[in-house]
Amino acid sequence: MRIGYGWDSHEFKKGVPLRIGGVELKHTHGLAGHSDGDVLLHALTDALLGAIAAGDIGSHFPPSDPQWKGADSSIFVLEALTKVRQAGWEVCNVDSTLILDAPKIGPVANRIRQSIAELLEISPEDVGVKAKTPEGMGTEKAAIAHVVVLLEKHEDHKRLEVAAAMLEADNHVDEVVKQLVKDVRLEKAPAKK
Ligand code: MG
Repeated sequence: MRIGYGWDSHEFKKGVPLRIGGVELKHTHGLAGHSDGDVLLHALTDALLGAIAAGDIGSHFPPSDPQWKGADSSIFVLEALTKVRQAGWEVCNVDSTLILDAPKIGPVANRIRQSIAELLEISPEDVGVKAKTPEGMGTEKAAIAHVVVLLEKHEDHKRLEVAAAMLEADNHVDEVVKQLVKDVRLEKAPAKK
């Protein structure tokens, strides 16, 4: 099993749409950023990449690259998910905490869980979305997201590993047999006079 952790923050900005977890929410402010500013999907992308030690969102999708301007952040999640699968892992579950002053996340948490579950092709029951207000933190102008993911070996890779272990054991048996034959031949060899 592997664990991954991601964190991100974006500043609220008037007049831009607010997207959290791939869901557009009604609010006076959205989140500023080079892409669509989806703080939760960015933290999720980092958690996925972190779980397979494959760098971070900035190294794969540099903000300096104009192709990511206004990009739908689900692209980043799907790319990270592909890397996770190529490395032989699959997502077991995800948990997250948002820290933001407004809007209230409780009433939309299930929509966000559903959105993330669809992206990762897992059940919404395996996606935790929690939220807190930044009391005493002084971060009211920003939205912050923390995400952890748990990965398990993909079934096909588990089978491949078992097959590889059996092959290795077979090879080892060959070596043992070869050595035995060698020993027996030596024993049977007529003593030199
Ligand atoms: Mg970000």
